[in-house]
Amino acid sequence: MILHSSVTVTGIEGLPLIQKGDDLPQLISERCALENGDIICIASTIISKAKGYSRSLCDVSPGQQATHIASVTGEDPRFLQVVLDQACDVLVETPFTLTELPFGHVGVRSGVDASNVEDGLVIVLPPDPMKEAKEVRESLLRITGKECGVIVTDTCGRSFRRGQTGHAIGWSGMTAIRDFRGDTDLFGRTLEITEEAVIDEISGFANLIMGESNNGIPAVHFRGIPKWTGHDNIYFRPEEDIIRKALKKM
Ligand code: GDP
Ligand code: MN
Ligand code: MN
Repeated sequence: MILHSSVTVTGIEGLPLIQKGDDLPQLISERCALENGDIICIASTIISKAKGYSRSLCDVSPGQQATHIASVTGEDPRFLQVVLDQACDVLVETPFTLTELPFGHVGVRSGVDASNVEDGLVIVLPPDPMKEAKEVRESLLRITGKECGVIVTDTCGRSFRRGQTGHAIGWSGMTAIRDFRGDTDLFGRTLEITEEAVIDEISGFANLIMGESNNGIPAVHFRGIPKWTGHDNIYFRPEEDIIRKALKKM
């Protein structure tokens, strides 16, 4: 692989407050000149806004589990019901809910977000972020004629370390993992650590540019990242996931 010495990372400025029905690929392509090989990271929040993946808390009636968790954490039981509605498995209930979503992601509160939206509304993650990434990539190709990679990101906490970082929850036009098998190190030894979660590394940097609060930068453009090859199996299978097994025993 040829290593490039520089990558440019640019926040896409001037995007409006996204409403249901907005055409994100159009809005993005009007604000940055794409070239083949560029990568665009998009905050899942605006994908959900554009697609209407949100819930109004006044329409939610909390069930027994949500009411129980709320009695311990002090959270709004309706919010917790939305969290549970998104989940296919609950790994931890308190002090915060940690859930698995049907598309494979494990996240705190199912990634449900009450920030950067109007009062009383909560944003849920897109149910199929892979499909969303593919749709944006194909639309960008149609609009601009350029082959770009697209990553849908969310800000997530991590196990074992404080602080949140950007994670990729959907991607298209690249593999999730870069596979180093067959490469040798500086001393000619075959590499033993063979996998790098490149899409999360890119998402982490994108999240830095996006910020969390009122930056108003929900999309970030990368140029100069060399292509890589690998695979898409970023989520552990249940039988190989020792952390999940340990949590389930608690
Ligand atoms: P998440 O990481 O996907 O949950 O998204 P965040 O809520 O953290 O938002 C990421 C960035 O996008 C921040 O800079 C927000 O200010 C910005 N943002 C969120 N919604 C909008 C929007 O509708 N329009 C614009 N222009 N920026 C937004
Ligand atoms: Mn989020
Ligand atoms: Mn964020």
